[in-house]
Amino acid sequence: MSNYVSVIFCRNCSSRYVEIEEWNTHEKKVVLHCRTCGVTEPLSNFTLGRSKITDKELQEARDTRAIPFKPER
Ligand SMILES: [Zn+2]
Repeated sequence: MSNYVSVIFCRNCSSRYVEIEEWNTHEKKVVLHCRTCGVTEPLSNFTLGRSKITDKELQEARDTRAIPFKPER
């Protein structure tokens, strides 16, 4: 049985090393941070999970990533 998950990539540098840098529990927001290029972005109502995947599965996630005017598959 397969399970589908969503993967967050950095739009600035395409890195997969995106993590939560800080929690603002008062405003119920997190700040995402790209470990590769250092860009940050606030986010609310979502959080991150981690799972070990194969290189092939990572490439499938990259190949199906959403881009402007073309939602993810
Ligand atoms: Zn980046």
